[in-house]
Amino acid sequence: MVQRDKLYNLLKRNSLVYFFITLTLLPLFIFGCQSGEESPSAKESIYPDSTTHYRVDAEIKPASGQFEVSIDMRFVPDESTDTLQFLLHDSFKLDELKGQAVENYSTSPWRFGGKDTVHTKIITVALARTANPSDPVSLTWKYGGQLRNEQIPAIGGAVVSEHWTELPFEAIWIPQEASIGHRFTFEATIDLPENYELVSTGKLAETAEGWHIQSAIPGPDLPLVISDQMQKREFSKGSLPVTVYHGGAPDSLTTFVAERAGQILDRYAGRFQGGSETDELRITVAPVERATSSSYARTGFIALKHGIEPNMSLYELIAHEAAHLWWTDSVNPMSRHNFLNESFAEHEAWLALQEAYGDSVYQERLAKARKNAQKAPSFYDWKPRFDGALSYNKGPVLLHELHQRIGESDYRVFVEKLQEKNVGTLGGMIAVLGEVADAETSSWFEEKL
Ligand SMILES: [Zn+2]
Repeated sequence: MVQRDKLYNLLKRNSLVYFFITLTLLPLFIFGCQSGEESPSAKESIYPDSTTHYRVDAEIKPASGQFEVSIDMRFVPDESTDTLQFLLHDSFKLDELKGQAVENYSTSPWRFGGKDTVHTKIITVALARTANPSDPVSLTWKYGGQLRNEQIPAIGGAVVSEHWTELPFEAIWIPQEASIGHRFTFEATIDLPENYELVSTGKLAETAEGWHIQSAIPGPDLPLVISDQMQKREFSKGSLPVTVYHGGAPDSLTTFVAERAGQILDRYAGRFQGGSETDELRITVAPVERATSSSYARTGFIALKHGIEPNMSLYELIAHEAAHLWWTDSVNPMSRHNFLNESFAEHEAWLALQEAYGDSVYQERLAKARKNAQKAPSFYDWKPRFDGALSYNKGPVLLHELHQRIGESDYRVFVEKLQEKNVGTLGGMIAVLGEVADAETSSWFEEKL
């Protein structure tokens, strides 16, 4: 089964949605040459100027699903545009959206296939001037409302319930640029009722004003896991401390997750160049059913799907997600380049599986992927609907073949160089392979793609 992780899960594999997103994107590509007067507000240097930044203040009452949110956003468009489009959960009423560069805004439902199962609206912002990457715009948002579990988009690991609320990208609780792939840094203060605890990516601290989270590493979302029954299982014997957050899962499960994650991180720390951009790992284990059973990884944070058991499949899942801590940069997951994100994570998970459970398990995994990849097209004909067969099956099979061909030592240099150079495209990957191996090997691999 294809791993369901990363925020783009459904989007990658549902061509209808992809088509719709493509449609919603079109108005963004309106070019202009007018220069603006507004300058980006002064920022602390930890947040790169070239990246969109969200400063979020939110009050959340998980028992009723009540949200009050305000955001100061510095939005850096990817290209020149005089229109911006954002997605936001439809239950939220927009009280204010303003900024020097805002001419006006309008909202429309985000529908596809005639059915609105995503409970999401599009907010189209007409700008008074053209924004471009070196001349971003500032937007202030204020909105609120009640997020009910029956209105959670049925496309990811979101859930709203009294004792466990989980808001990954798919909940769209903060405005997301409509291309989905836009990345941002953030600092957020989340005010929760007493006794509720918060887990997220980035730096996390409980302060007098609420839970403070910040991430200076651009990411696709601001995930929140909130519970008043949060329990912890810690594992600190490995190279990175691991904390498993759960809502009363059996010891056998939390111990398995914590210890295996620690072992897997040690393995990766020894294999890969550089760090995983984190000095600790938080893993959440949902005690309730979420919209879909999916797992995902962010910097220093892994949210595991619900309904897991301490077994080999879970080991493989943790190994896959943990590999993303080293493979989350530069790659556009809505493209053929998702190879660099998913195929490497999957292949590393197989190798971890081989070490922990033996070669016959590895061979079975390989045979299954070969079968799944039989009808896969070339990576150059990538479409969202082929991504399962390509990035999760054909890709790791090709990496296996490459590993066999060039040997462990060169393969490791190859991986180290990809990470060192932050390579995010197939072309870049082939070029690196040419440097590490030889021209014949890189052409052989390129043809196989
Ligand atoms: Zn993955």
